[in-house]
Amino acid sequence: MSKLAAVFENLPVALQQAACHLEGWRIARHRYGGDFQALLRAAEARTNWTREQMDDYQGRRLAAFLEHARRNTTHYAGQSLNASWPVLQKRVVQERTADFIARGYERSGHWAHTSGTTGAGLRFPVTRQAHQEQWATWWRYRHWHGIGLNTWCGYFGGRMVVPLQTEEAPYWRDNAPGRQILFSGQHLREETLPQYVAELRRRQPPWLHGYPSLLSLVADYLVTRGEDLGYTVRWLTTGAENLLPHQARLMERAFGVRPRQHYGMAEGAANISECERGALHVDEDFSAVEFLPAEEAGVYRVIGTNFTNLAMPLVRYDVGDRVRLSEAGCACGRPGRVVESIDGRSEDYLWLSDGTRLGRLDHIFKDATRVREAQIVQRARGEMTLRVVRGMGFAEDDERQLLAETRYRVGAAMRVDLEYVDRIERTATGKLRLVVSEVA
Ligand SMILES: [Zn+2]
Repeated sequence: MSKLAAVFENLPVALQQAACHLEGWRIARHRYGGDFQALLRAAEARTNWTREQMDDYQGRRLAAFLEHARRNTTHYAGQSLNASWPVLQKRVVQERTADFIARGYERSGHWAHTSGTTGAGLRFPVTRQAHQEQWATWWRYRHWHGIGLNTWCGYFGGRMVVPLQTEEAPYWRDNAPGRQILFSGQHLREETLPQYVAELRRRQPPWLHGYPSLLSLVADYLVTRGEDLGYTVRWLTTGAENLLPHQARLMERAFGVRPRQHYGMAEGAANISECERGALHVDEDFSAVEFLPAEEAGVYRVIGTNFTNLAMPLVRYDVGDRVRLSEAGCACGRPGRVVESIDGRSEDYLWLSDGTRLGRLDHIFKDATRVREAQIVQRARGEMTLRVVRGMGFAEDDERQLLAETRYRVGAAMRVDLEYVDRIERTATGKLRLVVSEVA
């Protein structure tokens, strides 16, 4: 724990609240001060560009960025501009981070970090402009749906906003400068849910945003009791985790509005935003994304170049995620490619004993409306364990259906065990992983 976190933990609630405002103010200034409004306007102007305009813009930024990387980093010093650069694996960046940091940016003010599901994270500098271009891309997407910078948001994420040992409400803090009520994901459980719901009813934030695994706990609470929030939730957006089909349906039932998702990452190598018609658009002006065929037919690896971040050039960086591409495109007319689905991380796959890899396992749970939470664990090839937290009314029929659906998806050769648990462990950043595989 950092010194600051230790100090925070021992403050009275009112002072913790003041610390939240102060931190919120600091973040808002870094994110939305300076050139942000100009960057946002420029990003929004590109929404209706033609494909040719977009290609031209991307080509120019990419060329300048590659030249910068070649001149100013150890890793890319020998690269020729006339040949294709190799695909970069995260492991290489983790082992030799310093070689990727551009000269002159070693003491950059802002450092981002990724948690890495297997434990190994990454810390790297991000220029303020790159940070703001990313936020401009995210706000452009929110504006498509009518969410404004001043819209109050009930936020359910992984940020530690309430000390872990706290045993009584409030399990939330305000960030007034950022227009957020920050609900603690770490304290959200059966016994505390009534208090969360009561606070939502009292404050009535028109926009709910967060991890699908947390928002669906709130949704499940309401649906199983036949209740609603008693006010109109106008917007529901999710991020950080894959939005699974059964979570989307549960949330729509509980909140009366369809969840929208976007896909992004701290490295800024790719960004994908859902439009008002429900299509997932690649933000072609934010980074240069390639889709390379993966092991499974119709599935592609996401490879991206973060041409906004001069401090840490990552060229043809393998993000580690898998997508399916849409043939149909989208009638909204936005330029660029459309993704049919985000299949999640490469680790979200299971191995059969014959070496076949299976993806899209979220479909196992698509009709499992009485499953509160689930996770798939694989310890060896050819076997898997379903970990399930039963929801209200879960009965033998549900178990039978779940096992049948699993069998249908994974085939006859897989050994399937079922384990009922009270709670599923989250990662260090509070995320719920659909698949935990111990098989390399
Ligand atoms: Zn569209």
